[in-house]
Parts: sequence; structure tokens; C-alpha cells
Amino acid sequence: MPIGLVHDPIFQEHQAGDFHVESPRRLEVLDQALQAWPGLGGTVSLPLRAATAEELGRVHTSNHIKRIAATQGRYSSLDPDTGTSPRSHEVALLAAGSLIDLCDAALEGRVQHGMALVRPPGHHATPERAMGFCLFNNVAIAAAHLLAARGLERVLVVDWDVHHGNGTEDCFSRDERVLYFSVHQSPMYPGTGPLAMVGSGPGLGYTMNVPMMGGQEDSHYLRIFLDLLDPVARAFAPQFILVSAGFDAHREDPLGGMQLRQAGYAGMTKVLMDIAREFCPGRVVLTLEGGYQPAAQARSVLAVLNTFLGDTVLADACLETARQAKPPEVLAKAKAIMAKYWAVFPGL
Ligand SMILES: [Zn+2]
Repeated sequence: MPIGLVHDPIFQEHQAGDFHVESPRRLEVLDQALQAWPGLGGTVSLPLRAATAEELGRVHTSNHIKRIAATQGRYSSLDPDTGTSPRSHEVALLAAGSLIDLCDAALEGRVQHGMALVRPPGHHATPERAMGFCLFNNVAIAAAHLLAARGLERVLVVDWDVHHGNGTEDCFSRDERVLYFSVHQSPMYPGTGPLAMVGSGPGLGYTMNVPMMGGQEDSHYLRIFLDLLDPVARAFAPQFILVSAGFDAHREDPLGGMQLRQAGYAGMTKVLMDIAREFCPGRVVLTLEGGYQPAAQARSVLAVLNTFLGDTVLADACLETARQAKPPEVLAKAKAIMAKYWAVFPGL
């Protein structure tokens, strides 16, 4: 079964502004790396498709959808760091729609896992506004599709971008059908995502935030994945796993202050594949968020895809090291908080 990919030069047609870090170059370098990658034969590239108004409307207000549509054909600025170019609207619709189709392909068993290598990113976009380089919230739109159109009842959204996915959290903080897990640098943009934000109303306990100081390495992230995310995710029993896959926690990233290497991304992918094997085989779908050192991002994406293809040498070594490493301080605090909602931590 091939790995599903969404990648196309059209995703380089969105320009966020002159000299903007969220640049088309990110995908140019990635596409070159993919073409030279020996694993490419184990993937299938899906046709592109624009998201419909109905699909966007499950997440975004009609005012927001109209505001983005009005940017078509011109340059505009939606907030101090979120700009658009003449084709941004069209490209953003393709990013969201193609991710939905990739999810459907995984759900129907036509592909095994997948990754949408799209721009613009999405996880900061809230129901009513664009922010943080994001126009439409791709991952939230995909999750909402799986719930509303495909009848799923439990979707896990993992966000390993170095920034907190405030938009995604906004969409689902009251919804027990979506378990939202974010590990992010704090303090950092956008300033949201404290440990104490655990969701509200019927969604209480279904938001898990793990803010960490900069400087954290692969083993710190993996201990959070193994000791916190894994037991809660297994209790949740996801029918689908979506990932807001930013690569800006990489040690070479100019915006993030974390110290991840490509092996760390392979390790996190392996943890999710192991959960999926038990609850939703073949249904781990990533969508690109941030990642501003194009070569480091490309190496990290290939590390993820190799892991999908079953080459887990890098991931296994990294996980083994993590199991013996000292956990980050935040782990005990996060477990104590989540223990109120999930009876999966012995002794808590
Ligand atoms: Zn980011």
C-alpha cells in the first residue's frame, strides 16, 4: 500500500510578502529532496482539489471565508505577519481540499498514512480570522470533515509545530470528539496553550497542552509522547490521527529555539504509527505547518516518510535513548493535570 502525498508546484504560488520566512522556497527545496529520495516509488501523489464552502464553513465563519476570497487577484495584508498574493486564496483552498481527499484516501485504505506538503499553513487560523501566516485552518477543516461527512466520533490531532496551534484549539476546545494535543515552546508566539488549558464544557480533558522552555531535545519530546500522549491517546482510542507537522522545532530553525533533529521527528511518527496500528491502521495523516530552515525541514520530512515506509532504524534508536533519558520537568506536571480526566497514570 503506497504512502499518500499531496505535493505540487502550485503550493509555491502563495506569497506571504517580500523576504517573508514562510516562503515558496520551503517547498522548492522539499520538492527537490523528494525527487532525489529513493523511497518516492513507495508513494502516490493525489490529485488536487479545492475545499468547498460547506467544508470551510464547518470551521470558519462566512465573514472569514469572504474576507479571504476578497484577496483573490491582489496583494493584501490580513495582519502584521500574514500577507497574501494574487493566487493565495486559490492555493489555500487547494491545501485544505487536498488534505481532506488525502484523509479520505487513508480512511478508505487506498493509501497507508500520508502527508500533505502544502502552504499556506493553518493551525493559527481561528474560526473568524487569519493570523500567524495561516489563512484557513487545514487540520481543523480535515478533522471537521472526518466527523461531519465521514461519521467518525474520535479524531486525535497532534501538533508538534514549535508554536501552539491556537486556532485548532479554538475550534475544538469544547468538543469531546477531538483530542487536541500540542507540545510547543513557551514563552513564544502566539502566547496561548498553558498547561491549565484542558478544554471546557463537554470537551474538558480533551485538550492537552505541553508548553516547554526552549532548548528541548529529541529525548524530551519523545518522553512526552511516550509517557503522556501515548497512554491518553490509547484510552481515547482514535479512529484517525491528524498531525499539524511543523518542523520549526528543528535545531537549525531560525524562528524556533528547540533542539530537535530529524531523528526526533521519525521517533514521534513511530509513536503515532504504533497507536494507529492498534486503533486505526494506516490512518496517520500529516499536514505541513511551519519550518523555516528549508534543508532541515526537507531532511525531517524524509525521515518521517521513511518511517512510514517501515524504515524505523532512526526512530527506534531515538526512542531507545529517550526511554533512558531524564524526562523534562513539565512531564510530571502535565501528567498530574491530565490524571484528573484520564485514569491512565498509575499512582496519580
Ligand atoms: Zn510554527
